[in-house]
Amino acid sequence: MSSALKGARRIVVKVGSSLVTNEGRGVDSEAIGNWCRQLAALAAEGRELVMVSSGAIAEGMKRLGWASRPKELHKLQAAAAVGQMGLAQMYETKLREYGMGSAQVLLTHADLADRERYLNARSTLLTLLQHHVLPVINENDTVVNDEIKFGDNDTLGALVANLVEADALVILTDQRGLYSADPRTDPAARFIANAVAGAPELELMAGGAGSSLGRGGMITKILAAKRAAGSGASTVIAWGREPDVLLRLAAGEAIGTELSASTPKLAARKQWMVDHLQLRGAVSIDAGAVVKLQREGKSLLPIGVHSVQGEFHRGDVIAVRNAAGQELARGLTNYSSAEARLIARKPSTEFERLLGYAAEPELIHRDNLVLS
Ligand code: GLU
Repeated sequence: MSSALKGARRIVVKVGSSLVTNEGRGVDSEAIGNWCRQLAALAAEGRELVMVSSGAIAEGMKRLGWASRPKELHKLQAAAAVGQMGLAQMYETKLREYGMGSAQVLLTHADLADRERYLNARSTLLTLLQHHVLPVINENDTVVNDEIKFGDNDTLGALVANLVEADALVILTDQRGLYSADPRTDPAARFIANAVAGAPELELMAGGAGSSLGRGGMITKILAAKRAAGSGASTVIAWGREPDVLLRLAAGEAIGTELSASTPKLAARKQWMVDHLQLRGAVSIDAGAVVKLQREGKSLLPIGVHSVQGEFHRGDVIAVRNAAGQELARGLTNYSSAEARLIARKPSTEFERLLGYAAEPELIHRDNLVLS
């Protein structure tokens, strides 16, 4: 069986605290250097990579001289704020050595649940990818503590995979993958090379949290794989110190545990649009825009919009209809209904004058649009 990474163009790689900081000894320059070398090589092949890295708390604890992980969340949050400086600096230095630019992105679950922030985060990340810059993401631990409490960024990794519609999520960890029972205590534990993401028996197999540094045990990884599969991304859980693990996975070698997504990406995206989002309004478009959308696979530009129905905000899902009122597509709008009314039938060169600022030329970007 060949790895899901073989044909994957957009890949999210998540690394946990104990790997990044070599069991809490401080940011591990060699390990990060190794991943950065592989990420840069994959980017040079034309793949798009996003890194989700924990390790801020562990590095912060070291910088503050704390020997053991405090229980108080505010102390952990403070340690994360201190450690994030070192973490970002290390990725920046290492990626630059391999000729790649990096960007720091701190996100929270609430950011991704809010339509407007979701769209903002999505367009920022996609713009970074277009410019061959590698986003290095962590949870914004100052304002939330979800991953500190539960996940060590496993959930965040999956949310990011959903956000950028990755083809694959790689969770690098200090274990070789998933076992049917805890291999440290059960000699009968069997290694799981592959399974379908979301299969109920997986959740029964995975025990509690593993190491004392991060919070994520196998269970959070299994749940992350299930969530990633929701947007059509398969997940690989592998040992982060396996030599050239990312390059070998991308070449098709099966390493670790693969939890495959059973729904293809496009179908998953359609389902997501249909299931999760209430339709807030609609736009009617002219015949020229219909051709651009349906035959040429283009984005919807305001110039092709002749009327706007309903009240909606940036990031809401709206319907796109033809002049006869038939629904042709659904998508996430870049503009509110008030703005859309101002720029309907207008070329993008006039947007700045009409709105007072220059934003996206599209009303609905192709990436955020699903044809009916
Ligand atoms: N965002 C946290 C970090 O980077 C999560 C990991 C943890 O809980 O240790 O340190």
